[in-house]
Amino acid sequence: MADNIFISDERIEGDGSADGPLTGRTVAVKDNISTKGVATTCGSAMLEEYVPPYDATVISRLKEAGATIVGKANMDEFGMGSTTETSAFGPTDNPAAPGHVPGGSSGGSAAAVAAGEADLALGSDTGGSIRCPAAFCGVVGIKPTYGLVSRYGLVAYGNSLEQIGPFGETVEDAAALLDVIAGPDERDATTRDAAPEGESYADAATGDVDGLTIGVPTELLEGADEDVVDTFWDAIADLEDQGAEYHEVSLPSVEHAVEAYYVIAMSEASSNLARFDGVRYGPETEGEGDAGSNWNETFSQVRKDGFGDEVKRRILLGTYALSAGYHDKYYKKAQDARAWVKQDFDEALSEADVLASPTMPVTPFEQGESLDDPLQMYLADANTVPVNLADLPAISVPAGESDTDGLPVGLQLVGPAFGEERLIRAASALE
Ligand code: GLN
Repeated sequence: MADNIFISDERIEGDGSADGPLTGRTVAVKDNISTKGVATTCGSAMLEEYVPPYDATVISRLKEAGATIVGKANMDEFGMGSTTETSAFGPTDNPAAPGHVPGGSSGGSAAAVAAGEADLALGSDTGGSIRCPAAFCGVVGIKPTYGLVSRYGLVAYGNSLEQIGPFGETVEDAAALLDVIAGPDERDATTRDAAPEGESYADAATGDVDGLTIGVPTELLEGADEDVVDTFWDAIADLEDQGAEYHEVSLPSVEHAVEAYYVIAMSEASSNLARFDGVRYGPETEGEGDAGSNWNETFSQVRKDGFGDEVKRRILLGTYALSAGYHDKYYKKAQDARAWVKQDFDEALSEADVLASPTMPVTPFEQGESLDDPLQMYLADANTVPVNLADLPAISVPAGESDTDGLPVGLQLVGPAFGEERLIRAASALE
């Protein structure tokens, strides 16, 4: 298959009888979202044979809306990465920049839309996994407010941080998919009823930014490549021409956001991934020598064979951060930092309608470039992870291409909790 976008390309037809809002539209679905009767691998050898017995709530809603699912999209293993290179099923190429990574972890979903393999796509965003690939592939991606979209049927990585969200070629397309998946679900107690103020999210894509105030957090420009920053300012100038105003704001706490995010995400991951033990989930083991008779050895063998290096690294670090004696030093400190980040965003958003920054501080890496240096990869998430720590909504919209190499650059807008319409309105002004 072109570019290794899909892990499986089995089609799932929606309810064709009704004339739903997505009738005739095709959707690619990240392979960590459960599809009844269709393999859901999370990009991991551990789940290569796993076929869920039920649909995630977002899948039921897609079917009711009449959409056709065209495949399960490639991703970093269990959502851990920013390049889609940690997938057990091989990397995905970037259709907008061949030879480069599509971003991650929802790289297959963004690439499907960029390549025209699907009209729309679903991804999940724990620390940027929708916005990063949207920026790298030159498409639109929305990370909803925590609690707007049901996580029932999403294989958990860092459940206090993540949301399922839409990709589209345009802001209006992505918003129309958000209309279908948003809303309370009795199967996810963290969801709440926060219907759009207008008719729908898609209706908010009016492009009207007259009088909008944009706060630009200086800290989110500091580590970014010059090329990216230039493209970002061009986009802000475009919004100014249309009647928006900008001023600089400060988010001092974001200096600690990457550290806090990785402690919290790895801690939650170490606990969530305990279920992949060859008994509850994962391949059944035959009694091979001693391993078959000794529970500890069987368990270790399944996890050794089934998980890739990045997943193992995170389980080890997360287990360490939660262990007695270190819990207060790492996990509790990270929770304090999270509270500080939230407070900073509240303050900045009391002085501006939306906050704007480059989505990613860099343009897409070349294939293979980032795998050797995990720390470098974590630092590339500097602008996206603070938003998950603060539970806020954000959108990444194409800002243009970098001057020197012509690679896609994304602009991120962040708004107040359940302020998706404001983001959709502002982002659509850049199209
Ligand atoms: N790159 C980040 C990580 O590896 C974000 C991943 C995500 O949002 N799922 O954790």
